[in-house]
Amino acid sequence: MTVPPDKEISFLESVNFSFDMALATLDIPEGMAQYIKNVNNVYQVRFPVKINGKIENFVGWRSVHSDHQLPAKGGIRFAPTVNQNEVEALAALMSYKCALVDVPFGGSKGGLLIDPKKYDRDAMEKITRRFAFELIQKDYIGSGVNVPAPDMGTGQREMSWIASTYAAHRPKDTDYLGCVTGKPVSLGGIQGRTEATGRGVVFGLREFFRHPEGVKLANLEGNSLEGKEVIIQGLGNVGYHTAKILEEEDGAKIIAILEWDGAIFDKNAFSVEEVFRYKVENKGGIKGFPKGKYYENSAELLEQECDILIPAAMEGVINQTNARRIQAKLIAEAANGPITFKAETILNEMGVVIIPDVYLNAGGVTVSYFEWIKNLSHIRFGRMERRYEENQNHLFIKAIEQSGTKLPKNLISQIGRGPVEIDLVRSGLDDTMQNTFQRIHDRYWAEKKVGSYRIAAMSIAIEKIYDSYRIMGIYP
Ligand code: NAD
Repeated sequence: MTVPPDKEISFLESVNFSFDMALATLDIPEGMAQYIKNVNNVYQVRFPVKINGKIENFVGWRSVHSDHQLPAKGGIRFAPTVNQNEVEALAALMSYKCALVDVPFGGSKGGLLIDPKKYDRDAMEKITRRFAFELIQKDYIGSGVNVPAPDMGTGQREMSWIASTYAAHRPKDTDYLGCVTGKPVSLGGIQGRTEATGRGVVFGLREFFRHPEGVKLANLEGNSLEGKEVIIQGLGNVGYHTAKILEEEDGAKIIAILEWDGAIFDKNAFSVEEVFRYKVENKGGIKGFPKGKYYENSAELLEQECDILIPAAMEGVINQTNARRIQAKLIAEAANGPITFKAETILNEMGVVIIPDVYLNAGGVTVSYFEWIKNLSHIRFGRMERRYEENQNHLFIKAIEQSGTKLPKNLISQIGRGPVEIDLVRSGLDDTMQNTFQRIHDRYWAEKKVGSYRIAAMSIAIEKIYDSYRIMGIYP
């Protein structure tokens, strides 16, 4: 494929161009490459719902990009702009993401064309349940075939409605809780899923700063996030947790926050929690926040000078119209597809380093994988071993103290305690993000023809999917 010189391309084409660039660094037969790249299937559904006595019609999609591993996995998005091209692009990204971080799922994604802000809770419940019912009927939901999760415009509430709709229609399926992830903990969810994507972004950034070559490449300094100036777009699920953890655990400075109704800037940094509380109390907007300078045109602040720019809202926000004006040294793609293929070419020329979505926001699906395992095994993580480990740790402390060394009390309580679910989830997530970045880093620095972290990540993912298909063989 050759990129037309000035035309911006679609999200799916953007993903496919990255695929082609990564493929060029690999030795995979043409026919298999085509099979891996193409979306396997997509289901479009239209359905009516009676709201306040009036019948409204809705359209939605669920796409399966690859089923080299089952179930296929990916979020469901509720947005007023969602379309089939976007859902297919996001499904493809899910395949590459799962393969990259060693999560044994195929790639899928769903979308419902709706503006959730226009409907009350009861209407949203009716619409979500009806959409779920349509997908269940066609086997596009089920713990062994296809497992949705939250995405833009959906959260724990919608996942609960989907799980309970599934349970009502498949009453004999004892694994019904595994039909969807991102549920509340009281309904089979897992501790740490809500924060998972954001925490994964931070784990990924921390790992980036442990590698001096990359830090130098981005014209940054130091080996930590301490004091780094950060701009974040979107204070939703992913953006809020990313920004909060960066501020509170890493000492980064959140100098600008961009939302749908404007942006705020303060060189002295914001308290993320304060802005978030204001947003919740003000219908999801930040306009009128009493501190910092307000900008009506939110996107203008993408171009502000900073160390790290974190788009965490939606795709295509950095494109060929604004790419040349970007002043960030490092762009951390917390959202899916925030940089178009065209923009990336420009940013590469400018020397801006990009940590790609296919890696950086994989924390969500990683912890979804843990949740799914928990649902299938019908037991919470840590239940069997926690007290045993605690007893062993106390024996160990006793042995040290008997040898004459007195340990400080706070250390004893830290060493003594056995792991609870959240400790294990964070440990598994951190391990995944560290290991995966090391593999991306090694491939990027070892092979000259791999021109970016994205191409390195994509080439690892494609290789793994190819390997699965190769081992299975083509049937019948
Ligand atoms: P969300 O709906 O919780 O948050 C999106 C945020 O972006 C909201 O605060 C919204 O007000 C804001 N926003 C909307 N329009 C905007 C605009 N024009 N300018 C600035 N901000 C705007 O969604 P989310 O789950 O946080 O997802 C955000 C991105 O992260 C999406 O690209 C999604 O695909 C990706 N992602 C999400 C997850 C997950 O676990 N939720 C996992 C991987 C990737």
